[in-house]
Amino acid sequence: MAVQINAERLRTRLVELSEVGRTPDGGVTRFSYGTEHAGAIRRVSRWMREAGAEPAVDAWGNLFGVVPGEAGTLSPIAAGSHLDTVPNGGVFDGALGVVAAVEVAAAFRDAGVRPRHPLLLLAFAEEEGTSYGTGCLGSLGIAGRAPAPEALHDAAGRSAADALRAFDTGLPRRAVPMPMAAYVELHVEQGPVLASRDTPLGVVDAIVGIARAVLEFVGEANHAGTTPMDVRHDALWGAADLVGAVRRLARDSGGRAVATVGRLQVTPGAANVVPGRAEVTVEVRSPDGALLDALCGHVDEEARACAGRYGLSLEVARTWRSEAPVPLNRSIRDEIAAAAGDLGWPIVTMPSWAGHDAKILQALVPAGMIFVPSVGGVSHSPREQTAWDDVGRGAQTLCRTIERLDRS
Ligand SMILES: [Zn+2]
Repeated sequence: MAVQINAERLRTRLVELSEVGRTPDGGVTRFSYGTEHAGAIRRVSRWMREAGAEPAVDAWGNLFGVVPGEAGTLSPIAAGSHLDTVPNGGVFDGALGVVAAVEVAAAFRDAGVRPRHPLLLLAFAEEEGTSYGTGCLGSLGIAGRAPAPEALHDAAGRSAADALRAFDTGLPRRAVPMPMAAYVELHVEQGPVLASRDTPLGVVDAIVGIARAVLEFVGEANHAGTTPMDVRHDALWGAADLVGAVRRLARDSGGRAVATVGRLQVTPGAANVVPGRAEVTVEVRSPDGALLDALCGHVDEEARACAGRYGLSLEVARTWRSEAPVPLNRSIRDEIAAAAGDLGWPIVTMPSWAGHDAKILQALVPAGMIFVPSVGGVSHSPREQTAWDDVGRGAQTLCRTIERLDRS
């Protein structure tokens, strides 16, 4: 094999990056366009320079660097992930894909191999949507599909436009080069599938679509003692039946969908009052668009049946819907699988149940994703962990994939 990543350097840098925004209990908090984000950009841009990539920041605070290619006319092969975190998030989410992309460029340099395509190293801003409520904001900005920065505000009421104006990284502002020949993202799985199958690598076939709704059952608040059971219109009875129905619908999908009632609000919420109102949120996720639509319809039907059973009325509000599920590029998937094969490591094909920048990029460029196992399936937590051997295998698979793409 020609190009070999330096697993020790990768590990050292991941640990060093995790010190920027380190929380007392070992987590990481890096909000977009804040001091920690700028600090992370300074560190990563230094490593980019060492790897032969000239760093810059675009209008959305995305850091990028380009290693020139041997053939002057080819579009770049891109790799990366995001630098921001959820509050008190983990060390690996996002950071792994960024540091691994830089490591691939460094490994090419160490091996004395000049890629034919330029290598575009990407470190997106605001993937988690923590500050402005829009996930994948940085990649949406590159795609020209982000909301206007003047229209986005953080919890303190400051606009993204103001934050971006004040965001000082010391780097030049430039647009991310387009078009790209390919985009490959290495990421932690954030779930238990790879660990449960005892497999070190996953290749993502599709990124899920997400639909959320708020359903409110309206009955009649009344005395909890004097109202006989057979004349009650208890709104919570409807909501409780719906919680069970949502679980059943998702389980019956045979692993093709998940669904969650994450919030239940009962009004008036007193021990001695029959609930007059009960509001539930239902979130459904699936990598299959038709199934996602069908399940949303089934949830509505079930909710109407639950309401009818107890003489309740029902109000349904669709609060949010992500973009449709996105299948990732077939030939990039094949190259990732072939790269793992070259290295002698098993790899499983699986959907991503979380959103990622690759979902946005896929609309512009053939995109692929590599997953490595998350210990205990834990993520968005200081307990997030991936074994260092798995980190190294993931980065080497990314490197091999890019080598293969560079030749094709
Ligand atoms: Zn992430």
